[in-house]
Amino acid sequence: MDNTNQIVCGIDIGGTNTRIAIIHAQTGAILQFLDKFPTPPKYEDQLHAISAALQPWKWQIAGVGVSIGGQVNPTGDSLRAAPNLPDYENKPLQQDLANIVQTRIVLAHDPVCGGIAEMWNGALQGAERCAFLTISTGIGAAVFYHQANVQLNVSVQIGHQILYRHTRPCLCGQTGCIETYLGGKQAAMYAGKPLETIQDPGYWRQYAEILAIGIINTAQLTRVELIAVSGSIALHHPEILSIANTAIKQQISSGSHVALIPARHQENAPLIGAARLLSPESGIIIH
Ligand SMILES: [Zn+2]
Repeated sequence: MDNTNQIVCGIDIGGTNTRIAIIHAQTGAILQFLDKFPTPPKYEDQLHAISAALQPWKWQIAGVGVSIGGQVNPTGDSLRAAPNLPDYENKPLQQDLANIVQTRIVLAHDPVCGGIAEMWNGALQGAERCAFLTISTGIGAAVFYHQANVQLNVSVQIGHQILYRHTRPCLCGQTGCIETYLGGKQAAMYAGKPLETIQDPGYWRQYAEILAIGIINTAQLTRVELIAVSGSIALHHPEILSIANTAIKQQISSGSHVALIPARHQENAPLIGAARLLSPESGIIIH
């Protein structure tokens, strides 16, 4: 294949939906969506679904980048922890996909992919210390440091920071994690109804104020200054960002600052970033 016009595949395996697209390797343009389906809870079912979608393309794509809603092992070939996809944990995902398409496969935690896309040609372009936050079935984040042509992409467990004296058991096994308030799946369990049905502005104000605490903690520990936000909850409730930004400004100590902004690629950020994983310019990933 002509090296200047490569096409690659991006797969975004989220806690709720999986999306597969053909993407232009040099520009990040999504050329064609191949499939979108509810993420199968069973790992084997997911492999079959991906295999079916990729069959017509398997000899044309120069690689497959996978964005996944779980923590990737340090070796980058499987999932270490995925409270929303437990059957996927410790399965040889990279090898199983390579057996299906016989091409290069790269995996990363979904906010790592989202941030790579936003730093490439989105809302985080030019930022030296920044982060990407997904607010969806779960909440996930990655932080990025970019200096002198070196880009370091670090997956962090933002959802499993513990709030003092909070007693909600989290799906991860800890007690009092912020994800029990902010992750769509767990917050709905505690609210007793899907978050899509909650219109009460008071609920979303409190939600944004809890988010602000998580962001301040993250910024103080990592020194990030700009955070691009995506995920279905953030997209449906854009007011969360402005409420949280106000709460952050009121609380954060002088000398530190951090702001939340919408991701430019919105729900496509992890998909575009997944494809970008195949480029050496995406930098070093600390899974
Ligand atoms: Zn947790």
